[in-house]
Amino acid sequence: MNCFDLIIIGAGPGGYRAAEYAAKQGLKVVIFEGENVGGTCLNVGCIPTKTYVHSKTFEEARERMSQVVPQLRSGVEGILSHPNITLIRENASFENHGDCPCDSSVAEIMGTVPVIRVIRVGEETYTAPHIILATGSETKWLPIEGTRTNPHVVDSTGLLNLDTLPRRLCIIGAGVIGMEFASVFNRFGSEVTVIEYLKECLPALDSDIAKRLRKQMEKEGITFHMQCAVKQVDGGQVSFENKKGQTESVEADVILMATGRKPRTQGLNLAALGITLTPQGAIPVDDNYRAGDEIYAIGDVNGRQMLAHAAEMQAVRAVNQILGKHDNIDFSIMPAAIFTSPEAACVGPLEDQLKEQGVDYVCKKSFWRANGKALAMNETEGMLKLFVSSQDGLLLGCHAYDAHAADIVQEVSVLMCKHTTLSELSDMVHIHPTLSEILKSAAE
Ligand SMILES: Cc1cc2nc3c(=O)[nH]c(=O)nc-3n(C[C@H](O)[C@H](O)[C@H](O)COP(=O)(O)OP(=O)(O)OC[C@H]3O[C@@H](n4cnc5c(N)ncnc54)[C@H](O)[C@@H]3O)c2cc1C
Repeated sequence: MNCFDLIIIGAGPGGYRAAEYAAKQGLKVVIFEGENVGGTCLNVGCIPTKTYVHSKTFEEARERMSQVVPQLRSGVEGILSHPNITLIRENASFENHGDCPCDSSVAEIMGTVPVIRVIRVGEETYTAPHIILATGSETKWLPIEGTRTNPHVVDSTGLLNLDTLPRRLCIIGAGVIGMEFASVFNRFGSEVTVIEYLKECLPALDSDIAKRLRKQMEKEGITFHMQCAVKQVDGGQVSFENKKGQTESVEADVILMATGRKPRTQGLNLAALGITLTPQGAIPVDDNYRAGDEIYAIGDVNGRQMLAHAAEMQAVRAVNQILGKHDNIDFSIMPAAIFTSPEAACVGPLEDQLKEQGVDYVCKKSFWRANGKALAMNETEGMLKLFVSSQDGLLLGCHAYDAHAADIVQEVSVLMCKHTTLSELSDMVHIHPTLSEILKSAAE
């Protein structure tokens, strides 16, 4: 029996951040990882896709990805080499729970009697009074017969593994992953077609802004079929029903399944922990990411905010809960970016949600074309919408697209955390000439 204070399963941004923070706080941690450390984000998600976004050609992107990913992975391995952390490179599965025979430093800190959780890996068993599940997510495939075995159909990982640039790429789904790849492969020279079931792309983004972004991507050569339902994929041919009920088809060399992601829980034997999944397959958690008695589920596996930075901050909250520490992390303020070209970003609710909730608000707009730096950069299409409470002037959210939208929205996010009002923002000095003046213009 190997006794620890904390068992973590999964070494993605949620898991490795939890391990790092817990170890520095003096906890003895064991972390299990069945694949490469760094998880989806570092190996097949955020980082590889961003090397694609910042490369001019497909060949350059592949070359840069092959350098950047191992470099960052060795950084995570460095973090996990802390003397308080044991990294086990195996898939883990729960066996049972009962009374813990181990001395736990958490028990000393918290003065509680720990409960045992047994993980079996091969012949070994590992126990700890506290568990953090951080097993991430996997591609959600459309339930269309034959797609899983069709060699033309890939998910995001398969697309990143291609050796040659597809001449024709068909993307099913205009969410974040679909839109980012559409933008990148169009720039590399592929003929890109996107098929989307909904009326507009990027449902988490303000619909005015999403529409403008899509129109700009159309001008750059991408074909969009909106409000279309894919019915069949036969070899490289994708057949779909358009909004008039007519059947159309697209021929492609590669078809990307970008219809979302689902929590990854297979093989964990969560029944041993008494956990029942939500209908969407996520581990249900409370606002402190607690899934049960001293069991936490952080990151994509709880299905709440499938973002790397959300996973990291949830890790901090979970470890703080284990240690009995209070923090002030506000998970309702969760900025997100879409790294299309140009990029888009948002924080706070959609305008439709504000209306539904009966919030009394005003919307302040500003445009890239009215900003000196944007003109100098020749980035003049973009728009920013800033939502402000009519009652007290507090900033409620911001949605924007065009060059450096993510940095501008990050500023709003920080101001929201500090409960800043519109008039306070308009009193803050912004460097000239910068794109951040677009935000100040909206405030004025
Ligand atoms: C193409 C793509 C692009 C993305 N771009 C962005 C972006 O730009 N910004 C952003 O914020 N987010 C982005 N994301 C989302 C981001 O990658 C995830 O939100 C993030 O990785 C979630 O972190 P996590 O720690 O919850 O899970 P993961 O990163 O998925 O890590 C989970 C780990 O658990 C391991 N594991 C699973 N089961 C077991 C088991 N039984 N035993 C041991 N180990 C196990 C897995 O092997 C994996 O390494 C992107 C995702 C994709 C697919």
